[in-house]
Amino acid sequence: MRANYHTHTPRCHHAEGEERAYVMRAIEAGFSELGFSDHSPYLFDGDYRSRIRMDPEDLADYVSVLEALRLEYRDRISLRIGLETEYYPKLFPRLMSFLRDYPIEYMILGQHALNNEQDGDWTGRPATEERKLDQYCGQTMEALETGLFTYFAHPDLFNFVGEAALYDRYMRRLCRKAKDCGVPLEINLLGLQEEKQYPNPIFWRIAAEEGCTAVLGSDAHAPEDVWVPDLIARGEALAREAGIRLQEVETLRPIR
Ligand SMILES: [Zn+2]
Ligand SMILES: [Zn+2]
Repeated sequence: MRANYHTHTPRCHHAEGEERAYVMRAIEAGFSELGFSDHSPYLFDGDYRSRIRMDPEDLADYVSVLEALRLEYRDRISLRIGLETEYYPKLFPRLMSFLRDYPIEYMILGQHALNNEQDGDWTGRPATEERKLDQYCGQTMEALETGLFTYFAHPDLFNFVGEAALYDRYMRRLCRKAKDCGVPLEINLLGLQEEKQYPNPIFWRIAAEEGCTAVLGSDAHAPEDVWVPDLIARGEALAREAGIRLQEVETLRPIR
């Protein structure tokens, strides 16, 4: 692992530590590049405020703090400014026009809710309904088709606990789409660390069979989590066992 593109900041209300500490940890790891991808702001309808993401008015500070650090550390590491973004069909066009005024270099797809968050379930909640599985896959496939996402973070976040054959059928379709769109899938190291339902070995076997490629993402919510050698080794072992090709992120897809 030479770089990490999945890094949060306290603006999302559930991460800790100063940006500088995250950068120092990446330098200690010997990374050539560190990408910040805090939870994207979203412009919701009404007065709804999501407590798991930065507020729209925090984006300017996010960018300016990271730009200052990029300049300060330019001889030691390359810093990139990105976002972890859901694809909310109704709200996505509004978001993209809002982001146009900021120098965001890349987005990773992280689908934490169905529909538009205000009107859908969290994707980490156990579900048995085919309708929800269909929705998760349909929505993220549409996201992949936009060509705006550099990679797909924890694609196996959707916590389907229903019929195994259904999971196989839908996830195979999703993996095929990722492969066709040339979007790598992320083995999420935070999921390994916290023993969440992902990374799901069943998903990764399907992804391997469909010819997808994988990348490792720290999903750091604290500076020390930018680089955890033991988790990297476990992520690599998981990829090996599933038979999926592991690669570094080669290019950042522009978001406009
Ligand atoms: Zn996420
Ligand atoms: Zn994340």
